Amino acid sequence: MSQAGEPIALQHLGGMGRGCTLQGDGDALPPHLHVPKPPNLVRYDERVVQLNDCQQVSQDALYLRDTYLADVHTSVTATGRDETGGRWLAVRHNIFHPQGGGQPADRGRLGECEVVPVRHAATGLVVLHATESHSAGLDDLSEGDPVHARIDAGLRLLHAALHTAGHLVEAACRAEGWTLAGNNHFPGQARIELTPPDAGAQLADAEEREKASDRIRAFVAAAIADDLPVTAEHDDEGHRIVRLGEVHAAACGGTHVRSLADLQQVTISAVKLKKGRLRVSYTAAHRPLR
Ligand SMILES: [Zn+2]
Repeated sequence: MSQAGEPIALQHLGGMGRGCTLQGDGDALPPHLHVPKPPNLVRYDERVVQLNDCQQVSQDALYLRDTYLADVHTSVTATGRDETGGRWLAVRHNIFHPQGGGQPADRGRLGECEVVPVRHAATGLVVLHATESHSAGLDDLSEGDPVHARIDAGLRLLHAALHTAGHLVEAACRAEGWTLAGNNHFPGQARIELTPPDAGAQLADAEEREKASDRIRAFVAAAIADDLPVTAEHDDEGHRIVRLGEVHAAACGGTHVRSLADLQQVTISAVKLKKGRLRVSYTAAHRPLR
């Protein structure tokens, strides 16, 4: 056994391959790739926060480095209570993705306790709450205690597939000249919303929308057939920039597949126009891991 606090076993769902890699200094983006930055975008990866007057806490966001890391031995690095009195724990090496950026939260376990990760507003740490059915399950844990963290691997793969497919659909829609207005990568509800430049006057025609849908499907199919790599790196300001080959770049803190051939069953339903906004609904799954 390694000392408490150090990861002693990393359970991979698949090889690292040429997956999401993080580098300290990102190259400059090609000028044709526009990267919108959400105003509340946080800096990712290793986070060091001052929890109170005498306690500094650090947390490593492992989920950003490796989507396929499902299991880690680590330690409790902080504990606290939310405004309703619910207890939370933060772990030193974190594999849980909290809800954000349109992607739902992971589910998983700390030891035998079922937990849900949440972004702690005051510190930015990802903290774990016990689910209702395991409400006392974290009570015995204190700072420094070793813990075994596991995510629901099937759910992680589905979320990563839907989220990455969302980037791809967005890229296809941007190629139409549309601007991103919103996204939702939840299973069963996945969609990208966009605004066309002329408030959709031309796209009010159903035939035009169907033609646009066909172009979007062709764009998506070609990118998957080309197996474009999905990479992540930090820009000069420390923001994490995710790219799909040369067709898309966006500031993002989600989990992604390694390359687009990891996606399967990507389907795009018809483009709908409502109040000047286009809605492109889609589905996606992760190919089975070998
Ligand atoms: Zn992303």
